[in-house]
Amino acid sequence: MAYRSSIRTITARFTGKCACCGGEVKAGSIADYYPAKQQIAHYQAFSGNSAQCYGVLRDKQRDPGFVDLDAMYEDSCADICGR
Ligand SMILES: [Zn+2]
Repeated sequence: MAYRSSIRTITARFTGKCACCGGEVKAGSIADYYPAKQQIAHYQAFSGNSAQCYGVLRDKQRDPGFVDLDAMYEDSCADICGR
């Protein structure tokens, strides 16, 4: 998608909330930054490829018998990362 070119990889100066999974992006960690919307997300979250987002989504999962992280990721991130 066109806006991807504007996404930057930054070092988070403050603890923030991942725009993709809603999890915590810790201060000092490597993060994705999308200036147009001033959104921060876990590293590579905007590419639909963040292990950290998967981890948060896995923790959120209520039913341990239901494992479809790809679908959860798509639901959470489709608007942002285009998956
Ligand atoms: Zn995330």
